[in-house]
Amino acid sequence: MPPSFSHRWRLRQLMTVSSFILLVACAEKPIAAAATPLQVANVPPAATAAAAPTAASGNGDYDIQPTISFSDWEAGFRAQALQAGIRPEVFDNAFAGVTPDLSVVKADRSQPEFTRPVWEYLDGAMSVARVRKGQALMAQYADALQVIEQRYGVDRQALVAVWAMESNFGQFQGTQYVIRSLATLAYEGRRRNFAQDQLLAALQILQHGDITPEMMLGSWGGAMGQTQFIPTTYNTHAVDFDGDGRRDIWNTPTDALASTAHYLQSSGWQRGQPWGFEVQLAQGFDYALADASTRKSVFEWQQLGLKLPDGSPLPANVGQSQAALLLPAGYRGPAFLVLDNFRAILKYNNSTSYALAISLLSQRFNGAGYVQGNWPRGDLPLSRSERIELQTLLSSRQYDAGAPDGIIGANTRKAIRSAQQSLGWPADGYPTHELLDSLRNQ
Ligand code: CA
Repeated sequence: MPPSFSHRWRLRQLMTVSSFILLVACAEKPIAAAATPLQVANVPPAATAAAAPTAASGNGDYDIQPTISFSDWEAGFRAQALQAGIRPEVFDNAFAGVTPDLSVVKADRSQPEFTRPVWEYLDGAMSVARVRKGQALMAQYADALQVIEQRYGVDRQALVAVWAMESNFGQFQGTQYVIRSLATLAYEGRRRNFAQDQLLAALQILQHGDITPEMMLGSWGGAMGQTQFIPTTYNTHAVDFDGDGRRDIWNTPTDALASTAHYLQSSGWQRGQPWGFEVQLAQGFDYALADASTRKSVFEWQQLGLKLPDGSPLPANVGQSQAALLLPAGYRGPAFLVLDNFRAILKYNNSTSYALAISLLSQRFNGAGYVQGNWPRGDLPLSRSERIELQTLLSSRQYDAGAPDGIIGANTRKAIRSAQQSLGWPADGYPTHELLDSLRNQ
């Protein structure tokens, strides 16, 4: 702030900030994350292609607050947008009557204490009703899907599975005005750069005429339409499949399906390859190898003793493909080898539970995709407070778990493995109550 600013301005600034905080604290609107009916531990709140990084707010206090009034912020952003080529009437039309949406701030800050186990998440994702609906839609859109498959190399089952997971086949696209949500996030400040980039992209979409402001609806995080694309992803990957001149991912299912295919193709999808497959591990297998960063060819994994659940060898036709070993519930649960297409799905939404749901659901449409191994259904996931306690205890025992933020990332997994190894336990890097209890008692 320039030193010449008056005391009076500072006072006004303080009042603006504190009244904003007060309003946030009092907001009792439901959190509208309608577009993501399935929430699970490691699924970011806005399930979107190339979503915002999950807000890393450290210990959970919110140190970034708006320092100016909304109208001052809007005036400054308007100048920026016009400089970037947005026509004044497009901006003014988009921002007509826009005020900060406190439900957006609340949703952005909500950190659920309890999370669903991965097996419950998968059960919800693959309900009988959803599988039937997906099969019916696959028949209804068979001609378009065939063209899309040929053009982008992504199989129709995967596309329909993404459609199911992102918006329940278009049913839950989010009901919030995208400009308002993003303006709130940009103004409030915790995700300023992300939100301003998205807002500018959203204005470009309006200027291009793909959608009108009143139809530009999405999730609180700005994920839009049947594909739940954020605006920048829309601008790089949305497709006008039906050729009416508008990339309409909101109301035209074939535009949405082709856009999804285009995005997955760009994310490294390999035509004709499986996402991966369930495996069984040999006795004495080194669980430390089960890590997304440890990639080996399917053939190498076979030499380490991996087999299909029925005991037969791994598929030879993908023997040279690189794969990682995934243990979504630790060594006590099922194991999966995941290939490039699984990684492409992770670029849609960086959550292994989500990618596994897409993968298994795409097989379920053909009557497969049933997990053979047993989930450890008696194990409850750690709550957020317990994860933070685990991280704190690990770091205090010289296993550096990074900032105690309740998010089990690469650093925390590494720290868990080290602790497990020193205890002589299987080093799967998976956080359990047993490990937490052991650390508490050390
Ligand atoms: Ca179109």
